[in-house]
Amino acid sequence: MSESTLEKHVFQAEIQQLLDLVVHSLYTDKEIFLRELISNASDAMEKLRHIEATEKNIHQPTLPLEIHITTDEEAGTLTIADHGIGMSHEELVKNLGTIAHSGTKAFLKAVKENGGSPQNMIGQFGVGFYSAFMVADTVAVHTRSWHADSPELVWTSDGKSGYDIEETQGLERGSKLVLTLKEDCREFATESRVKHLIETYSNFVGFPILLNGKRINEVEALWLKNKSEVSDEEYKAFYQFACKAWDEPAYRLHFSADAPITINSLLFAPSENPERMGFSKAEPAVALYSRKVLIDPAPKELLPDWMRFMKGVVDSADIPLNISRETMQDSALIRKLGGVISKRVIKMFEKEAEADPEKYRGFYKKFDRFFKEGVATDHANREALAKLLRFESSLTEAGAVCGFPDYVSRMKDGQESIYYLVGASREQIEASPYLEAFKSRGLEVVYFTDAVDEYVVDSLGTFDGKKLVSVRHGGVELEDQERDGESLDEAQTTALCDFLKNHLGDRVTAVSSGKRLVDSPVIALVPADGLSPQMRQMMKAMDENFKDEVKVELEINPRHPLVRKLAEAKDSKPEVAALVAGQLLDNALIAAGLLEDARDTVHRMNQLMEKAMG
Ligand code: ADP
Repeated sequence: MSESTLEKHVFQAEIQQLLDLVVHSLYTDKEIFLRELISNASDAMEKLRHIEATEKNIHQPTLPLEIHITTDEEAGTLTIADHGIGMSHEELVKNLGTIAHSGTKAFLKAVKENGGSPQNMIGQFGVGFYSAFMVADTVAVHTRSWHADSPELVWTSDGKSGYDIEETQGLERGSKLVLTLKEDCREFATESRVKHLIETYSNFVGFPILLNGKRINEVEALWLKNKSEVSDEEYKAFYQFACKAWDEPAYRLHFSADAPITINSLLFAPSENPERMGFSKAEPAVALYSRKVLIDPAPKELLPDWMRFMKGVVDSADIPLNISRETMQDSALIRKLGGVISKRVIKMFEKEAEADPEKYRGFYKKFDRFFKEGVATDHANREALAKLLRFESSLTEAGAVCGFPDYVSRMKDGQESIYYLVGASREQIEASPYLEAFKSRGLEVVYFTDAVDEYVVDSLGTFDGKKLVSVRHGGVELEDQERDGESLDEAQTTALCDFLKNHLGDRVTAVSSGKRLVDSPVIALVPADGLSPQMRQMMKAMDENFKDEVKVELEINPRHPLVRKLAEAKDSKPEVAALVAGQLLDNALIAAGLLEDARDTVHRMNQLMEKAMG
C-alpha cells in the first residue's frame, strides 16, 4: 500500500460542546438516533434525485435508491447505508466537523442563553447526525460523493475531541455509517429491535428500507399523493394498516394546504366507536409527521380532545423533526396546525351530513358524544360543532332527526329563541304539559333525550345568535292567543291566584294566570337558573345528602273546568278547595318530574277520596 492518507482533525469548539451535551445529557429517547440517520439517508437520496435532473456525470447512476440497514449482534454494530449524494472531503469537514446547519447553532445558543437543561431544548432543534453518539462509542462514515472524480473516504470519530479522515477503496456512491454500539446500547444491534424502530418511526420514508436484506417499510405515504391517484381500496388498506384499524372508515379527509402552514393530511373517521362499546377512553390516533418521518404517533397537543376518535396522519414540513412532547405543549406552530385541521374536519362532517343525511345519522348515533363533548369543551369550534348536532323535535317524525340550522330555517316570524325540552324519551316529553303552549302556537321545540344534552345546551347557550330556552322555564314570553270557551274573568282569576298562594305558601314563589296552557289545569315552571330534574337526579346519585328546595312558579289555566270549579269551591267548600290546591301543585310537580316526597300526596289523596264519597 502507498503511504497513509490519514488526517487528524479537531472538532470545532461548538461541536465539542454539542457532543458533550448529546452524550451526557440526552439520555431519554435514545432510540430516536435511528430516525435521524434514516432521515439523513433519505435526504441524501432526495438530493440525488434533484441533481439527476440537471447533471449528466453522476457516478454509478444506476445504483438503486434504497436504504440498507444491517445489524451484527456479535460485533455489536449497526450499519446504515444509502446511495445518495455522498460527501466530498470538503463536505465531510464542513458537514460533520463544524456546525453545518443553523438548527444546531440555535440549539447551542439557546442552551447557553437559558443555562437551562438541554433536555428541554433539544426538542426544538434536533441534533441530527450527532445523535449517533448517544448510542455509539465510535462512528465511521464511509462515503463517496456523486461527483465523478471524488475520492472514497472514511471519517471516524469517538465523538470526543476530533475525527480522522482517510482514503479508502471499494466504496459505492453514497454514505455508509457504521456505529459501534456502546455496551449498554447493544440492543440496537438486534434485528427485532431495529425492525420495530423502523416500523415505528420510518415506515413511510419515501425510499425502500431493507433490514438485513428484507424490505421493512411497505406502506406508501398516501397523504403526500394526489387524491386522484389514490383508490378507495388503497385508502382502506392504509387506514387498516397504518392506523391499525379493523373496521371500515366511515369518512375520510385528504387535503393539503400551504398557508398558514404547509400541511399534508389524511384523516379518517372510523365506523365503530370502541368507547361506546365499553372500552376505555381512546388515545389520540392522529400521528404527526414531518416529511414522512414520524414525530409522535399520538400527540395529545395537536387536536382537541374530543377529536380522539379520528385516525390518520398530519404531515407538516414546518415542524422541526425533533420537537419534543414538552415543547409541543406550548408550541404556537402546533396550535396553529391543530386549529386548521380541526376546522377542516368539522367542515368535512358538515358537508358529508348534507350530502348524505341518512349515512350521517347512522354515524352520529355512534359518535354523538364526541361532538357533544366538543360543544362543551372546545370554545373555538363550539358554534361550528353545534351545527353537527342532531335531535328529534316537535316537528320531526318520531325517529327522524334534524339540526339547529334546520330549526333556525323554520323559525316563525318574530320568534327570537330556540325552544327545547329535556326528557327521558320522546314519549315522555310529548306527554309533558310544557309543550302545550308551544304546540298550539306552532313553535318548534327541540327534544333532548340524552343524559348529557342538558349540559351541552348549557355550554352552548346560543346558536346563530338565538338563545336556547327551555320551555320549562318561567319568564318565557309568548304572544297572546285567542281562546274559545268560558274563562274566569280577571277579578276571579286574581282572587283564585291569591287563594292558592295563600294555601301553598312557601312551596311556590308565585301563582299567576298564564297564556301557556291549553289542556292542563296548572303547570309548574322552574327558574331558568335552577336545576333540572335530570341534573337533580345526577346530584342526588353523587351525594345522598343533596338537598335543593324545589321552588316553582305555578301557572294556572283560567279556562280549565277544574280551575273554574276551584274558583267557586274556595268560597263554598273551603276545606275541599284547600285539599285540591295542594293536590294540583303535587300533580304539576309530578308532571315536571320534581316531586321529591310523595307521603303528603298520598295522605291528601285519601282525604279527597273520602270527601268525594261523602
Ligand atoms: P441536518 O441533517 O439537520 O442538516 P445533520 O447533523 O444530521 O444535520 O447532518 C449535517 C449534514 O451532513 C447534512 O446537512 C448533510 O449535508 C450531511 N449528511 C449527513 N448524513 C448524510 C448522508 N447520509 N449522506 C450525505 N450527506 C449527509
